[in-house]
Amino acid sequence: MSDTTPTRPLPNPDEPDTAEFWRKTKDKVLGYQHCDDCGTVVFYPRRHCTGCLGSNLTWQASNGEGTLYSYSIIRQAYHPFFRTQVPFAVAWVDLDEGPRLLTNITGVEDPATLEIGQRVRVVWEEHEALNIPLFEPF
Ligand SMILES: [Zn+2]
Repeated sequence: MSDTTPTRPLPNPDEPDTAEFWRKTKDKVLGYQHCDDCGTVVFYPRRHCTGCLGSNLTWQASNGEGTLYSYSIIRQAYHPFFRTQVPFAVAWVDLDEGPRLLTNITGVEDPATLEIGQRVRVVWEEHEALNIPLFEPF
């Protein structure tokens, strides 16, 4: 019997601007960029600072903790993997270091119980070439 369990569609780990981000996820490091010229926190990853357009960006590691900024509950999905996940929350999470990232909230029975502003931390969904950062309340 073949395994037909649908799996999450994964990002291209070789995309030039985001390759380093995904490489770090393999070590369960949640990376973001910091501009050493003007101090701007840059996320998603890119080649130039969004504050000063400079290219003096260095990678930092988030502690993996943050706050739920906003979310929406997905109750109907057409992709086979996401159909297995409903209902689930797609959320904007503000990391303590500043980056705001789009993710899924996991580890909750009923996503309607989530509250804006509640604390969340990263949990890793493991894959062969990279890991996907999801978040759970704590
Ligand atoms: Zn800058």
